[in-house]
Amino acid sequence: MKRLKYLSYLLSTLVFLCSCEAPINQVVDKKESKSSEFNAVGVPPGTESKYDLMIEMDKSETFTVKASILIKNISNDTWHEIPFYLIPNMFTAENSPSLETPSNLNMIEVSLNEKIIEFTLQKDTLTIPLTTAVAPNETVNVEFLYNFTLPEKGLRFTKKESNFYLAQWYPMVPTYRNGWNKEDYRFKGESYHTPYSDFLLTYTVPSNYTVVTTSEEDEKLRNNGNVYKINNVKEVFLALLESPNVVERQVKNTNIRVFGLDGHSEEEYEIAAIAKDALEYFQEHIGTYPYSQFDIILDSMGMEYPGVVTAGSYYNTKRVNTDSLKSMVVHEVAHQWFYGMISNDPYNDAWLDEGLSELATLLYYSDRGETNFSFEFGNEFSKDLPLPVNLSLDDYPMIEQSSYIYGKASTKLGMLFQKYGGKEKAEDFLKAYFHHYQHKEVNTEEFVRFMKFFLKLENDKDFKDWLEGY
Ligand SMILES: [Zn+2]
Repeated sequence: MKRLKYLSYLLSTLVFLCSCEAPINQVVDKKESKSSEFNAVGVPPGTESKYDLMIEMDKSETFTVKASILIKNISNDTWHEIPFYLIPNMFTAENSPSLETPSNLNMIEVSLNEKIIEFTLQKDTLTIPLTTAVAPNETVNVEFLYNFTLPEKGLRFTKKESNFYLAQWYPMVPTYRNGWNKEDYRFKGESYHTPYSDFLLTYTVPSNYTVVTTSEEDEKLRNNGNVYKINNVKEVFLALLESPNVVERQVKNTNIRVFGLDGHSEEEYEIAAIAKDALEYFQEHIGTYPYSQFDIILDSMGMEYPGVVTAGSYYNTKRVNTDSLKSMVVHEVAHQWFYGMISNDPYNDAWLDEGLSELATLLYYSDRGETNFSFEFGNEFSKDLPLPVNLSLDDYPMIEQSSYIYGKASTKLGMLFQKYGGKEKAEDFLKAYFHHYQHKEVNTEEFVRFMKFFLKLENDKDFKDWLEGY
């Protein structure tokens, strides 16, 4: 029964939730974690970027952005061009003809080291040629001036009623492996992958909006024109909310803010309570949440950003019921560790952050004595889902993608811990994993290397039937 209930939990929460590479490490990450027993080695990002982003919204709801990015080549190769993710371009009439209200995007000017240059823009890829090649350890400055409107019914980058959600709204520098690691945009899962970077953010918006950002410093109102420093995050999210209800809770040094937009006021209190409890549990069993603010917006699809999550629906279908909303929020809170503080490529290794966030969610529910959940697993997925869990997103049938990267991945991890010590072993693992890999990128190969060390495994047998390459 418990197993059945776990399965129904999986099916209810996993199918359409939110949501990477590179087995070859070119150079050893300089930030190796020193341990007498184990040396954690992050996947080198190849690029190091500092962003200075200025965004202004006018009364016609047009956003104008000036983005200045210092990009350092920390790979071993010389670059001849730089591609950027420009995801807002996916929601224009040309690229999303089915949208009734598409985005308008107008790239006014791109400069390289203060000289205006030509660029190409195809789907979500804006590429600049480098007339002078950029050698290892050299830095270039690229500036963009553009404006856009938000689409309605976009994905993460969207306007919903009178609220604006700005995810991936600026040109983002990809990672560099043996070449640029940039996938084409996908409307399911996350096809974009960025290294930890430093940001300056300045915004000016009409004063009737409450601005919620990745920054831990944003306050309601009166923040126009301030410069926010946000260091060591994968991306910067921004939401403009009109008249939200706000419920706040404190966990240690972190203030949780729950923003409700639909007048579901009782639900906001329930979500604030479970978010507080989950943040406490994850801090105890994984590691400290380092920011003084954590925001939850109860609207739009379930999705994680640094310091902010949205929850409400699976891929913008109808709003989920309160129990599903709670488990969605716990899952997104877990992403603050797995995605937010430990990175993986969400196209080539999507199973790592999704599988671990699901596992952490299950541990939380079973720890809090929810009788519907137990840390017991059977091999439910072996027949219906024969593929390994660590393939790239394009290698799965679209309809089964989530069942693999959330469901089968978390179940296989759970089975492994069940075999080698159960729930406590799983909690110990998450803590040790976080300790070793904070602000590093992990891929399947490195994950298995650490798992074998942690569980004292002598061979790869335990990974054979569910991870490609073993
Ligand atoms: Zn997720």
